[in-house]
Amino acid sequence: MPHLEAVGIEKRFGGVVALQGASFECRPGEVHALLGANGSGKSTLAKILTGVVAPDAGVVKVDGRQVSISGPSDMYRLGIAAVYQELSLVPQLSVAENILLGHERVRHGLVDEPATWRLAAECLEPFTRSLGRRLPLHLVVAELSPAEQQMVEIAKALSRRPRLLILDEATASLRSREVDALFEVVRRLRAEGSTVVFISHRLEEVYRVCDRATVLRNGQTAATVSLSATTPDDLLRLMVGDVEAPA
Ligand code: ADP
Ligand code: MG
Repeated sequence: MPHLEAVGIEKRFGGVVALQGASFECRPGEVHALLGANGSGKSTLAKILTGVVAPDAGVVKVDGRQVSISGPSDMYRLGIAAVYQELSLVPQLSVAENILLGHERVRHGLVDEPATWRLAAECLEPFTRSLGRRLPLHLVVAELSPAEQQMVEIAKALSRRPRLLILDEATASLRSREVDALFEVVRRLRAEGSTVVFISHRLEEVYRVCDRATVLRNGQTAATVSLSATTPDDLLRLMVGDVEAPA
């Protein structure tokens, strides 16, 4: 049974058709790329899968059951966490406060509890190792570089211990050692049986870390392919529409 399934998703923004019948499915424990040219609907699909945007039509299923996700708490309850293309950190809050924002125990005023700080530090650890220095948890996020902010954003998603992690262009501002650190995390999640949806326009990254890819074109699914059986050239052609999808 697929871990995550989207069937016939449609979404318009006024006169703009973002998605017109997009479908895809991820198997448990796979790293699944969502590819497509700019504007093909990848981010809109990510937001529909996490309840940020409501679809006009179509169904989302988790573990075979149709779900209706209408906000972050629904999403977390289903074991889903996401890093969106637009960063969502609160600049005036500290690194730890951002990572722990919205956690149940923090809402009850326990942000100073050592266990919550340990959780924040633990989720940042893969990145602090690659930076060669600590990212102080009390530092205000506004003072961080874009790459550091991106890492905090990823740590925030990891702090939910997701079974399904959606990463939308999460490597955009990372340098290569930081990308390596993220990919280590992705591989660990996969080894633990979690599922990752990896959205990126960097094909070399997709080939490094993903098992299969679904290509969106003009808001529709052009194909789902196994990456070990598809060349980068064929993948690019699928993205721009020069070839028919393999049967
Ligand atoms: P991608 O992530 O593949 O680049 P998007 O999902 O961001 O694509 O966008 C798909 C289409 O929907 C684009 O034409 C984009 O301009 C449009 N779009 C996305 N979000 C909005 C929005 N909130 N309001 C209006 N148009 C939007
Ligand atoms: Mg996008």
